[in-house]
Amino acid sequence: MIKEELWQAVLAQVQLDISSANFATWFKNTAIVSYKDGQILVCVSNSFAKEWLENKYGKTIFKILYNLDKDIKEVKYEVGKSELKTLKRSQPAIPQPGQLEFEEFKIDKETHLNPRYTFENFIVGPFNELAQAAGWAVAKKPGLVYNPLFIYGGVGLGKTHLLQAVGNAVIKNSSQKKVKYIPAEKFTAGVVSSIKNHDMENFKTKYRATDVLILDDVQFLAGKEKTQEEFFHTFNSLYESNKQIILSSDRPPKAIPALAERLRSRFEGGMIGDISYPDYETRIAILKAKCQEKGVGFPDEITDYIATNIQKNIRELEGALNRLVAYQKINNQAPTLESSKALLKSLLLSPNRVASPKKIIQIVAEFYDLKEKDLISSSRKKEIVRPRQIAMFLLRGELKSSYPFIGRKFGGKDHTTAIHSCEKVVKELDEDENLSNEIGLIKQRIYSG
Ligand code: ADP
Ligand code: MG
Repeated sequence: MIKEELWQAVLAQVQLDISSANFATWFKNTAIVSYKDGQILVCVSNSFAKEWLENKYGKTIFKILYNLDKDIKEVKYEVGKSELKTLKRSQPAIPQPGQLEFEEFKIDKETHLNPRYTFENFIVGPFNELAQAAGWAVAKKPGLVYNPLFIYGGVGLGKTHLLQAVGNAVIKNSSQKKVKYIPAEKFTAGVVSSIKNHDMENFKTKYRATDVLILDDVQFLAGKEKTQEEFFHTFNSLYESNKQIILSSDRPPKAIPALAERLRSRFEGGMIGDISYPDYETRIAILKAKCQEKGVGFPDEITDYIATNIQKNIRELEGALNRLVAYQKINNQAPTLESSKALLKSLLLSPNRVASPKKIIQIVAEFYDLKEKDLISSSRKKEIVRPRQIAMFLLRGELKSSYPFIGRKFGGKDHTTAIHSCEKVVKELDEDENLSNEIGLIKQRIYSG
């Protein structure tokens, strides 16, 4: 049992740090096959993955394992499909209560829904109750109440969970309904490859034959004109036949850059619900619920410590908990507050959560769908000037950078330009609520990976 749990702890942690596509690519079908004399042997499915795990994640993996069990001295990797198969067969078909699972690997082939995301395990608080209620109503009567349903909010706050909960509930209510979940990035890739392979008709039919189409993270449609056009037609076709469309984004439709006006107005035509940050009580409630799900319990001082230190991301809240759960299972006792702090230290101080000038410039450029070099150019175009001012403002506010330093970072501008930019943003913040939302979203991206 120990081997599985150690590896689950590694997966739980690594998953937080990398994209889900990468996670699936490198960690699918991995397992610890033996643990002897301080040596761990990890089995992977091909030599490419072996190299990646060794070189890219080797150190991280070792650290996580060593933190959990100080007897571990070395981690080795080997390619070994056959062993994995026997390992799989010997695993119980139904997961034991409390075992961490990676249902990312159990996604339904047809709907692309993950069975883990349901309304039953979606905790409701003031920060998400409107969005949840709207989702619930849509699940009851798809196509008939709010169409489209547009949910927005920052990273790790439950958008995907809610969208998929609606999809899973629709199927539970009536199994004939055709539901499809697709991240906007995948939809875009689908459009591109269908064009290349002259297979557009097939692509069209696939999405237009659904009763509920869920498109996640539509901010990724920014600037993708052909995909937007295709989605516009799909949208209309579904909408006209009273089929449900559900969308999510990290920001409201009007703040998505380079989005065709006709699509924006479609997105705004139904119900828009936002998810903000969970308050302290809800964070505690989420932790308690997850503990119950996993069949473990921690003293209040520990849940309080987690809820106090992780405020803006439910995925991280879960990640922290998973680490402590792994510790508890392996050591057969609950961690003390002191050992919890030590176990969570690297999570709370992860480089992902630290800002740098480079990162700010990169994220602001990404957010407004600009190139970094435009941001540091001297272009006076309005759509560039404002993001540039915001980036300068963030360098000042988040990093306490000096004005001359900021000027230099932005292509050798004078410090007075930097002063002027920062002051302009401060002044506008007073008058423009949208701006403060936008800056909030950018900050969240800066600190969440
Ligand atoms: P987003 O799509 O907004 O980035 P996710 O839906 O992926 O966020 O949520 C991140 C993690 O937090 C998931 O594991 C999800 O199950 C969990 N989560 C988010 N919101 C809630 C909630 N209200 N109750 C329980 N778990 C939640
Ligand atoms: Mg998501």
